[in-house]
Amino acid sequence: MEQVGIVVIGAGCVGAAVAYALRNSGREVFVLERAPRPCMGMSSRNSGVVHAGIYYPKESLKTRLCRRGNRLLHEFAPKHGVPFEKVGKYIVAHDAAACATLEQLYQHNLGAVPLEWRTAEQVPNGVHCRKALFSPTTAIIDQDSLVNKLLEESGAELLLHQEVTSVTAEENGVILTINGETCRASWVFNCGGLDSDQLCNHTTHFYARGVYFQIKPPPGIQLPHLVYPAVPKERETLGIHLTCNLAGEWYLGPDIEWIDTPSYGVDPNRADAFYRAAVTYLPWLERNMLQPGYAGVRAKRSRHHFSDFLFHREGRLVHCLGIESPGLTAAMAIGEMLAADCIA
Ligand SMILES: Cc1cc2nc3c(=O)[nH]c(=O)nc-3n(C[C@H](O)[C@H](O)[C@H](O)COP(=O)(O)OP(=O)(O)OC[C@H]3O[C@@H](n4cnc5c(N)ncnc54)[C@H](O)[C@@H]3O)c2cc1C
Repeated sequence: MEQVGIVVIGAGCVGAAVAYALRNSGREVFVLERAPRPCMGMSSRNSGVVHAGIYYPKESLKTRLCRRGNRLLHEFAPKHGVPFEKVGKYIVAHDAAACATLEQLYQHNLGAVPLEWRTAEQVPNGVHCRKALFSPTTAIIDQDSLVNKLLEESGAELLLHQEVTSVTAEENGVILTINGETCRASWVFNCGGLDSDQLCNHTTHFYARGVYFQIKPPPGIQLPHLVYPAVPKERETLGIHLTCNLAGEWYLGPDIEWIDTPSYGVDPNRADAFYRAAVTYLPWLERNMLQPGYAGVRAKRSRHHFSDFLFHREGRLVHCLGIESPGLTAAMAIGEMLAADCIA
């Protein structure tokens, strides 16, 4: 049986970041991707936001890895020419309940993540609110460029059209089946995104689709790149928010819909709910400005409760599970953490 070095399954942002973090391990690293090119999964179907890490429970992996990942991306992206803009984000409140939510968010992050108060007059004129919090460390990034640059800088060998169908941990190694062939690796990192659970008996993912609608703000409307509504902590999403990507396209989204099988259609009828949610903070918005955009599917570990990222280890086999938002932001910190284990 062929013996190889370290295998990373999946060329999304997490797999690419794990490969990058292993660049100084002194071992050969292979990234196996079943698709024809990298970054075709969750990593390309999201808001492209580099989050500050302000929403999740304080002691969670999501908080720790998001905050660390945010710092790592602020260093990596400018240094390696990955399109990235430190645009900041407004979290806006338009009634008393939402103002109370903002206050809780502010207290939750006190001393850990910078958040600045803004009055209604201090937010750009296209946005309506009673008051807002501004997060200066939130940014936007080009996901595709990030994944490709991480892979390039990693020095790993990227092998496309390679599907891993089984992994079994044994003493000091892992047996894999790749496109029907069996080999043995010294370590395996399962970064298969939505499908990472299929190589692991420990967890089953639930699929939560989120769709986006594109809008074109009318001339004269001045908008910040990112506007999020203040939503109570117990809600399962960050609310229908406004994003502008690095190509200058504006989107509203995502919502949440539980589905049995991943699929990426955008039902135009969902626009009504998007309009009702967004017009509270974008008062100039008209229903006919919303055009179907794109969809993404989150890999969630629970339908009901907050669920954290999970790194399930069986000897030298590590499964990355439930890597939904803020996984793009956290990716480099996940890579750093997992590689440290393996190199140690
Ligand atoms: C709607 C939505 C909005 C989001 N917004 C944000 C955001 O703004 N900011 C943020 O930080 N995060 C966000 N996220 C989360 C973020 O997109 C994900 O956490 C992140 O992209 C996960 O990356 P990944 O590498 O684990 O998965 P993926 O990008 O899905 O990569 C997994 C790869 O593994 C490959 N693969 C799977 N199984 C196998 C196999 N058996 N053999 C070979 N290859 C395999 C797949 O083809 C795929 O290329 C959002 C997610 C969604 C769905």
